[in-house]
Amino acid sequence: MIELLTPRQIDEMRPAGEFVGQVLTKLVEVADVGVNLLELDALAHEMIKERGAESCYIDYAPSFGRGPFGKVLCTSVNDAVLHGLPHDYTLADGDLLSLDFAVSVDGWVCDSAVSTVVGTPDPADLALISTTEEALAAAIEVARAGNKLGDIGAAIGGVARAAGYSVNTQFGGHGVGRTMHGEPHVPNDGRAGRGFKLRPGLVIAIEPWLLATTDEIKMADDGWTILSTDGSRGAHSEHTIAITHGDPIVMTAR
Ligand code: MG
Ligand code: MG
Repeated sequence: MIELLTPRQIDEMRPAGEFVGQVLTKLVEVADVGVNLLELDALAHEMIKERGAESCYIDYAPSFGRGPFGKVLCTSVNDAVLHGLPHDYTLADGDLLSLDFAVSVDGWVCDSAVSTVVGTPDPADLALISTTEEALAAAIEVARAGNKLGDIGAAIGGVARAAGYSVNTQFGGHGVGRTMHGEPHVPNDGRAGRGFKLRPGLVIAIEPWLLATTDEIKMADDGWTILSTDGSRGAHSEHTIAITHGDPIVMTAR
């Protein structure tokens, strides 16, 4: 069932979004050459405790993963793009790091992801990251009452293809509310003018992710981390947004 939130409920959700934005800002600041992925997870965990928030990941055990996840943060490095399970790895110069973070504050969930390069960036990695960010911005721009779900997918797919990337639709965005993953599924590609009609009160996570030279993925041995099949790097950009009578609200703005 697709749930529509009242303006008051969307306001109640704002602290969760602000907190998710603050944590990702802090993690991007701290992530650097020589920092271990487990340190980033520990820092996020500490911030969750201080805030009195609840992790959406630590007990998460969906059908596609080897649950429970056991960590509070997804850290996907280089050829890992989604659901990266933090492990004992120290970031090296030029690593492309994607961070994905979702918590519940006062019973409301927000979910967001960001990619960054530590140390000296390869221009190809920066181009990949900026394309996912442009795709997200284009999708948010059309996340308006009266438009269709297909407009969001078409916006993402259009930006990706124009930049020379192909799109995988096995994982995409989703409804967000009291729980992390609700309806509708928000595909990262689609046909404009098709699908569910967007309405005020619909809150969704939009999350384009791209791989540099393939659209094929495989599961890592840890049972969680999603890797490119060809070893090429991935990037991921996500915001939780609320559709209103006017402009969309980016709940997880940084
Ligand atoms: Mg996420
Ligand atoms: Mg998500």
